[in-house]
Amino acid sequence: MALITLRQLLDHASQNGYGMPAFNITNLETMQAVMEAADKTNSPVLLQASRTARNYMGDKFLQHMFMAAAETYPHLPVCMHLDHGNELDTCMSAMDMGFTSVMMDGSLEADAKTPSEYDYNVAETSSVVEVAHTRGISVEGELGVLGSLETGMGEKEDGHGFEGMLARNQLLTDPDEACDFVAATGVDALAVACGTSHGAYKFSKRPNGDILAMNVIEQIHEKLPHTHLVMHGASTVPQYLQDLINQHGGDIPQTFGVPLEEVERGIKCGVRKINIDTDIRMALSGSMREFLLNNRSSFDLRAIIKPGRKRVVELCAKRNELFGCAGMADKIKPLSLSQMADRYAAGIFRSKAA
Ligand SMILES: [Zn+2]
Repeated sequence: MALITLRQLLDHASQNGYGMPAFNITNLETMQAVMEAADKTNSPVLLQASRTARNYMGDKFLQHMFMAAAETYPHLPVCMHLDHGNELDTCMSAMDMGFTSVMMDGSLEADAKTPSEYDYNVAETSSVVEVAHTRGISVEGELGVLGSLETGMGEKEDGHGFEGMLARNQLLTDPDEACDFVAATGVDALAVACGTSHGAYKFSKRPNGDILAMNVIEQIHEKLPHTHLVMHGASTVPQYLQDLINQHGGDIPQTFGVPLEEVERGIKCGVRKINIDTDIRMALSGSMREFLLNNRSSFDLRAIIKPGRKRVVELCAKRNELFGCAGMADKIKPLSLSQMADRYAAGIFRSKAA
């Protein structure tokens, strides 16, 4: 079993100029598919689970699935990351479960919907960093509120996120504030707001620089060249998956995600973690629709789910190749949590980030 922390994984990504897709896990099949894709492409694995995924599966089931994934593929470094922790307790319970990395999203208050004050964000995130780093565990923070630059609306997905109008400056991470935030908290990775949002309905047209502000990422990277940046809501929402759903009984309005070229542009300027959830959901559910429509008498659950799992393997393998992490798994020697804790205690990473 080769568990790895986010810090070590993204340091390797940064040194070798690649990005890590962070795939959201919602059930057994999504986890199997992500692992199979990593195995096929010799990629390190970044698995993440949100609070809603933890609630859906139950912590015990999730914990054992994570461990089973790492044990089944002992040659692949596997990072287990908590997506959008809302408070210290949530992050602590994830650390106790064996997560090697947690996100403390202090851009929202603990209710996960009210945009917070900057000082609150610094205080909450710092308290998680303090505990996590003594255990060798990595922390991702977030500055800026995710939402649409097209409509000015915050976005709510799976019960997470602000619902309502926001000013443009709230929807974009301020580069100077990002410098202060990283120095004040000591986070290992920073999620930034640049116009991406969770879910399928990110943009009503193919995004340009006005509504997907890649220049903000470039400015932040210039000021913080050693901080790993994270793009949330980075699914591409591919047309073929929208068509697959709509041609088989679905009815989703035309929408646009984050083009792969923009993600690749981000990777060139410090984006190391690229969060992908929607594309997996669409591939799996679209395939299930297709199977059920073509096999109206079938109720064989395995037959219904299998084609979707295959489609998710293909999608994830393609992301691994495009983002450059394919071929990297056997080049990494994971450090243990206690080795990481020693490095934090020695101040190695903080001095790099500041
Ligand atoms: Zn997110």
